[in-house]
Amino acid sequence: MSVLVEMFRNLLTMPSTILYPGERVPIPDKFRGRIAVSDEICIGCSKCSLVCSVQCISMVDSPREIRFKDKILLRKKKPAVKLFKCIRCGLCERHCPTGAIYLKNELSDSGTDKEVIAA
Ligand code: SF4
Ligand code: SF4
Repeated sequence: MSVLVEMFRNLLTMPSTILYPGERVPIPDKFRGRIAVSDEICIGCSKCSLVCSVQCISMVDSPREIRFKDKILLRKKKPAVKLFKCIRCGLCERHCPTGAIYLKNELSDSGTDKEVIAA
C-alpha cells in the first residue's frame, strides 16, 4: 500500500533532474573552470609553473617587453598549460603576481589528449 502512495506522490511532484544541455545549471561564483592565460599581463616569472601540482605548465620562449610596476622589463618566457592535464586546483592562480593565469568561471569541454595547450 505504501508503494502506491509513494507512486501517486511522485506523479504530482516536479522531476528532480534537468534536461541538460537544454537547461543549464547556474555556475557558482568560485567555480573552477577552464584554465586561461592573459599574455598581455604575464611577466614570465615562472611561479605558476613551479607551484603546479601536476606539472602541466611549462615555460616556453616568448621574449618581449612588458610593463610591471611602472617599469619596463624584458620577459623571456611565458607559460604553456596542458589543458586536459590541468586538474583545476587553482594554485597557479593563487600565486600569480599579476593575475595573468586564472580559472574561467565557465564550463569547459573535456578531452583525452593531454598535449593540447590552453589557448
Ligand atoms: S589549476 Fe591547473 S595549471 Fe594551475 S596549478 Fe592547478 S593543475 Fe596546474
Ligand atoms: S605566475 Fe603569472 S606572471 Fe608569472 S609566469 Fe605564470 S602567468 Fe606569468
